[in-house]
Amino acid sequence: MARIGEHAVVVGAGMGGLLAARVLSDHYDRVTVVERDALPDGPQARRGVPQGRHVHGLLPRGKDLLEEFFPGFEAQMRAAGAIDCDVLGEVNFQMAGRTLAQVSTGYRGLQASRPHVEHHVRQRVLSIPNVTLRDRSQVSGVITNSSATRVTGVTVHDAGGAEDLGADLVVAATGRGAIVPAWLDILGYPRPREEGTTIDIVYRSAFVELEPGALGTDKSLTIGVRELPPRALALFAVEGRNRYVLTLIGHAGEQPPADPAGFLDFAAALAPPHVRAALRRGELITDVATFRYKANLRRRYERLDRFPSGLLAVGDGLCSFSPVYGQGMTIAAIQMRVLQRCLAAGGERDLARRFYTAVTPEIDIAWQLTVIADSAMPHVGPHPDPAIRVAVAALDPVLAAAERDPVVAATLYRVMGLTQRPAALLRPDLVARIGVGAARAAAEVALAEAERRAGRIGGFVAALGPAQCLAAVKRR
Ligand SMILES: Cc1cc2nc3c(=O)[nH]c(=O)nc-3n(C[C@H](O)[C@H](O)[C@H](O)COP(=O)(O)OP(=O)(O)OC[C@H]3O[C@@H](n4cnc5c(N)ncnc54)[C@H](O)[C@@H]3O)c2cc1C
Repeated sequence: MARIGEHAVVVGAGMGGLLAARVLSDHYDRVTVVERDALPDGPQARRGVPQGRHVHGLLPRGKDLLEEFFPGFEAQMRAAGAIDCDVLGEVNFQMAGRTLAQVSTGYRGLQASRPHVEHHVRQRVLSIPNVTLRDRSQVSGVITNSSATRVTGVTVHDAGGAEDLGADLVVAATGRGAIVPAWLDILGYPRPREEGTTIDIVYRSAFVELEPGALGTDKSLTIGVRELPPRALALFAVEGRNRYVLTLIGHAGEQPPADPAGFLDFAAALAPPHVRAALRRGELITDVATFRYKANLRRRYERLDRFPSGLLAVGDGLCSFSPVYGQGMTIAAIQMRVLQRCLAAGGERDLARRFYTAVTPEIDIAWQLTVIADSAMPHVGPHPDPAIRVAVAALDPVLAAAERDPVVAATLYRVMGLTQRPAALLRPDLVARIGVGAARAAAEVALAEAERRAGRIGGFVAALGPAQCLAAVKRR
């Protein structure tokens, strides 16, 4: 790999920062990751990543990229207890009253808690000889050249006091907060425009121990209910014997209870009978954690006409989407794949502009999927963009077809997993399958309704007897 510089600093050792360090280590003599938390030796949740206590699905594209960044990663995770699952064969995914057809796609997925994923990524990054981790250290500001056109380092505070750390490149992976926009203010640059939609969701989660086979042959269960008030449940088997993470989600003011009994009741009301029974016999092994998520957020750095060189904002600081669709870690990995290409193609030359421009279409795809799914919720008003409204209208037919047709289900799953572009659903053969599937679903609903009515008339006749029935009709 071409050498670009002597020292790169990454701020933040979450998934974004760790993956950035992996990519930078190919091009800089030294990479220092600065993290304000005391990082645990094992897969424990920590203060700086409070979302780690909630379900963290790893989308197929994210899993594939982790394997590319760290060859052997999947095997390492499985050996350490992560759950191997047959996608979609062992994934029970229900949305808006539809269950995706459970067929094997030939693809193996990985399920683990967020601390487990982060721990193994951290181990791999720390095994890279030119990467150093400096935890319990908070970055409080950037240092620049005299004209403030180039960032030349950061100021770090730790127990020993403050220190300036020089760098050819500073990558800020500090999460969703506005650290880079604040730095831009101080340096006299414009802030990026922020876009987002209010989604107002509350996550409540706990780890639970359930009896073996609690989900039958499934490894995960996801249920999204759209009727007001919209609610969702995710129950994923994770590392550890009979251990699961149970996340309950309330939208639009609905809050799953935080007390253990109420929490389990809320879950039981959503779960199918066999899971309900298993939950009743199960045991919460952690407290119930809460995360309030107000709005999707995108910072449009690609639209700025001035930005200091030697600095990049990545990860959730660039885009942070509704966690419901499980995209965050995967988007962070996609960003780093783009950074890898940008560094290989042009080094630090005009890096910020090239990176933000190249990453925008990748973010667009995930963003649109999120916006479409959010806009289908009854408490979110119709989207101003007609194209999004059309996509929202198409969602129900797609889900109806995906319930019966394994090809539609597998394609939809790949699109949601970011391994296939949404345009895959517009292929003529898929459109035909969706049309047939949706028509069949509508016909089945009409038939069931007709049978229900006929049954009511039949029951009426049986209860009263034909003569009384005739008399009743005559009286009318
Ligand atoms: C409730 C919830 C559920 C989610 N579920 C999923 C899911 O199912 N699947 C999925 O892929 N993604 C999910 N996500 C998103 C995912 O967690 C993030 O997108 C992903 O972790 C990338 O985050 P990041 O590295 O940019 O930031 P973070 O993970 O927030 O890490 C930022 C790091 O920077 C450190 N830091 C901050 N400021 C400083 C400073 N000044 N100096 C030094 N260090 C600093 C913090 O301590 C922290 O370690 C979820 C998010 C939430 C909120």
